[in-house]
Parts: sequence; structure tokens; C-alpha cells
Amino acid sequence: MRTSQTPPCPRCAAPVLLTARYPHAWRNRSGKRVAGFKETVLCRSCDVSDPAAGELLALLSDDGPLTPAAFEAFSGLVRDWLDAVRDRAPNRAELDAQEARWRAGEL
Ligand SMILES: [Zn+2]
Repeated sequence: MRTSQTPPCPRCAAPVLLTARYPHAWRNRSGKRVAGFKETVLCRSCDVSDPAAGELLALLSDDGPLTPAAFEAFSGLVRDWLDAVRDRAPNRAELDAQEARWRAGEL
């Protein structure tokens, strides 16, 4: 997990608050298990309406270094947030819309 030198948000291009990288596996067309990594970012703008990210965003929005109590809460909040987002399926409609834009040369 990184909280500094984070990449820009893939959705809005603003700097993200943190990135988390974790093992992720899926099955390909022939049913073979493919192991890899998945990266999830926490964005101050894009994730503001996500209930799973609310507490974590609130904690990270305070300026200055984390207090010891906040630091203790941080790992639990990150775990809860990842548990909520890691198995979310991609939004099919959003993917189709992006593909259509890409095919139309807009991306
Ligand atoms: Zn964003």
C-alpha cells in the first residue's frame, strides 16, 4: 500500500490518497487459474459517494500527520474498504460505454 508518490486517479486524473495492491486471481476461458495482482486507488473526488470509503476518506482528509489513535483506526478502515471493493464486479454498462467511446476514437 502506498500513500505517497501515488499515480493519478484513472477516473478523474487527480492525485489519489492511496493505492493498495493485492493478489488477485481469476479463471481464463479454458478454466485455468491465472494469478496476478490488482490495484485499487482511493480518490478524494471519485470515492466521496462510496459508503465503503467514507470513514477512510474522512480520516485522511484531516491535514497533518495522523494521530496515534487515527493511525490505529487507519489499518482497520483500509481493510474494511478493501474487503468492500476488491470483489466488486466492473460496471458492465460503464465498460460498454467506454468501449464505444474508444471505438469512436474519443479516448
Ligand atoms: Zn478520481
